[in-house]
Amino acid sequence: MEKYEKKYCKIIDKYIKESFRELKDFLIEVEEVDNTSYYALADYSKPKVFTIKISKKIRKWSDIEVRAMLAHELGHFVVYSKIGYHLTKLSDFFEERFRFWKRIQERKADKIAVEKGYGKYMVKSRSMIKGKKEIKKKKPIYMTVEEIKSYAKKIGEW
Ligand SMILES: [Zn+2]
Repeated sequence: MEKYEKKYCKIIDKYIKESFRELKDFLIEVEEVDNTSYYALADYSKPKVFTIKISKKIRKWSDIEVRAMLAHELGHFVVYSKIGYHLTKLSDFFEERFRFWKRIQERKADKIAVEKGYGKYMVKSRSMIKGKKEIKKKKPIYMTVEEIKSYAKKIGEW
């Protein structure tokens, strides 16, 4: 395995032991990819196997940004593990076509990452990307810094 993939796997292993226990029976693979439109993608590649595809662009991200991203991706896997393989594939189909559906899924993953205690990483990492186009939209796909903070405080995970 390549150096960066190893680094990501190490964090994932720790996350699963510490806070994502419900994923312990799944195989979680990390695959670095070139030339993608995304930074990271959570894929239910086959039953019992989750794959996080991670762009090489992320190599230069800070540790906090990487940790926040991985908590979010594992958040997607928590949802997938609950609804199962086939419904996940159906959901993916809609996600590719409808922004509102993608938004629901992304916010769900964010919420789970906050519930697991990673809100602070997410706020730090999202504060860094402030100013990017997506964040200025009226209904951003992801939770905003303010939303993460207030949700984390509400549930006592701040
Ligand atoms: Zn996501």
